Amino acid sequence: MLATIMLLLGCTAPAPTAAPTAPEATGTPVARIALTFDDLPYQTRRGGAPLSPEPADWARVNRSILAALAEADAPATVFVNCGNLADDDTLADQWRRAGHTVGNHTAHHSSAAHTDLDVWMAEVRQCDGLWPTESTATRWFRFPYLWRGEGVERRDAVQAALNDAGYRVAPVTVDSHDWMFELVRRQRKETGASDADLAGLGAHYARNTAEAVAEARAISREKLGREAAQILLLHINDTTAAQLPSILAALEAEGIEVVRLDEAMTDPLYAQPDAWAGRGARWWLARTDPVARPDGSPWYSDREGTLGKQLGWP
Ligand SMILES: [Zn+2]
Repeated sequence: MLATIMLLLGCTAPAPTAAPTAPEATGTPVARIALTFDDLPYQTRRGGAPLSPEPADWARVNRSILAALAEADAPATVFVNCGNLADDDTLADQWRRAGHTVGNHTAHHSSAAHTDLDVWMAEVRQCDGLWPTESTATRWFRFPYLWRGEGVERRDAVQAALNDAGYRVAPVTVDSHDWMFELVRRQRKETGASDADLAGLGAHYARNTAEAVAEARAISREKLGREAAQILLLHINDTTAAQLPSILAALEAEGIEVVRLDEAMTDPLYAQPDAWAGRGARWWLARTDPVARPDGSPWYSDREGTLGKQLGWP
C-alpha cells in the first residue's frame, strides 16, 4: 500500500538462465497466475480506514469485480479487513458464494513491522470468525503493506505466531500498484480532471499490470529456469473494478491461465524458505535465495518509483 522502501541486499550465488517461452499456437496455457484482492471492503487509507467510507461504494465495486471474475470464469482470493466491515456486511459471503476463497488481512490493516506483536496478533485473531470453528479450509493470511517485520528474529516471531494461529501466508510475486493509481485517480477527480484524462489513467494502469506480469515471468525464467505460478496483488477499489475485464483479457491473450491460490501455492517456489528480513515490502521472487542477481542488482525493477514519477505521486 503506502510508499515502501526497498532494501536491496547483494548476493553472489549464481542463477540459472533459460530461454523465454512463447505462448503456444495451440492455445495451451504457458503460465499460471493466482489473483488476490486485498482490503475488502475497500482499499484502506493510512490508519486503516477504507478510502471510501460508503458501504454503497463497497457494494458497487465488489459487485463489479465479482461480475468480471464470473464472466472470465476466473477464481480469486479476497483478503478481508474484518474490522472495516459493517456488522451486517455480507461482502465476504458474496465472494464465498461465488466460489472464491477468503483470507485474513487483519482487522484494521495493521503493519506487522510497526505494532507490538501481541497487539498485532490480536488484530489478526479478531478475524478468526471469517471461518466457522469446524471449517477445515485453509486460513489464508496476507500481510498488510506486505511488511513482515524487520530483522530475522522479528520476522520469524511474526511467522511463528501466525503458524500457531493456524494461518498460511499468501505471498505476492506481481504487484499491480493499483493502490497508487486509485489514489491518483481520486486526487485528479477532486481537482476536476476530464473523463478522458481519467480513462487514460485507467488504461495506463491496465498496461502497467500487463508489464508487471511479464516482468515477473521473465524473472522466474531467469532465476528458476522455468515459469513459476505467479501470484498477482490487486485491491478492492474503483480502479481495479473498472479495468479488471481488460486485465483478464490480457492474461488470456498471453496464454496465462488463472488458477486458484491453493493450486499456485503447490509450485515449489513457495516451499522455499524466506531468505530476506529487510525493511519494507518485497515480492516473493526476491525473498527466496538468491535474493538479488549475481551482480547484486535487484530482481524487480523500481516500478513504484517509476510510476510515482509518471503519475506525479505522492
Ligand atoms: Zn492491504
